[in-house]
Amino acid sequence: MKEPAAKNYIEINPQRCKGCAACIVACPHDCLEIGSEINTMGYQFARFAVQKCIACGLCFYTCPEFGAITVYRKPRQKS
Ligand code: SF4
Ligand code: SF4
Repeated sequence: MKEPAAKNYIEINPQRCKGCAACIVACPHDCLEIGSEINTMGYQFARFAVQKCIACGLCFYTCPEFGAITVYRKPRQKS
């Protein structure tokens, strides 16, 4: 079993990303950018660049490529 996430973040699978930038437009906190590296399909792929993720999932729902983005949400603190 995976440990709960200590913070909100996403992972991008470079081999599934086609660099369309839809996730970058969708993110309300400007967490994503297109990097300079190129994947095996010849695309410059997106990367998680700014640690301000609120785990809203907009990048995940916007991405047209299945499995390219995984969102990890920090568990809510019980008060
Ligand atoms: S989950 Fe929301 S805040 Fe986090 S990277 Fe995706 S769109 Fe941005
Ligand atoms: S929306 Fe998906 S395919 Fe497009 S750049 Fe973002 S991760 Fe890559």
